[in-house]
Amino acid sequence: MKIALIGPPGSGKGTYAQLLEAKGWKRITIGDLLRKETKKNTSLGKRIKKLINTGKLVPNKIIFSLINKELKHIKNKNIVFDGMPRTLTQARFLSKLNIDKVFLIKVSKQKILQRLKYRLQCPKCGRTYNTKTNPPKKKGICDFCKEKLVRREDEKIIQRRLKEYKQHANKIISYLKKQNNLYILDGERPIKKVFSDLEKLLNK
Ligand code: AMP
Repeated sequence: MKIALIGPPGSGKGTYAQLLEAKGWKRITIGDLLRKETKKNTSLGKRIKKLINTGKLVPNKIIFSLINKELKHIKNKNIVFDGMPRTLTQARFLSKLNIDKVFLIKVSKQKILQRLKYRLQCPKCGRTYNTKTNPPKKKGICDFCKEKLVRREDEKIIQRRLKEYKQHANKIISYLKKQNNLYILDGERPIKKVFSDLEKLLNK
């Protein structure tokens, strides 16, 4: 099965993708693929870094090429795309990959701003934590890599990312509704409840 998780930044996409990964799914997190690319000292890496650092979207062509490269190595049948589609063109691309279900995690802007303030990320594996709602076992340290966690973005970039999300969301959602494979989750509830609903919908 192939699924995708969409929603505004801070809606919990990464968290649910990580929970699926723990159950044997292959997680493809677009943000992580891009961050990996920025670590290479190439002109593409530098271009991507500039876009990420200003909260802008990376061109579709780059995203598709990274995904196609990634898919070549995957033998696992269950794949979760985290952080995609972010544009209508990406939604069409996923549709061509025969995506089974897309989950929209709905969270209000007010809640998101609150959450992102407490978000921490592992610079090595990309796993995200929240000091209030989803803390690491040891304060400031990644449960898996034991790497020191970092705060990711400032207020200005968060606002820019939210604006970017809003700009594309309606078109993507109406396209997915027509495709009849969109499922909506209320992402303001505790992680366990949202994930339990997600799992029920997966088996439907
Ligand atoms: P994320 O880790 O999902 O919050 O993404 C971090 C940044 O990577 C975003 O602000 C964008 O600049 C870029 N990015 C992630 N996913 C995509 C995507 N599907 N399309 C274009 N840019 C993306």
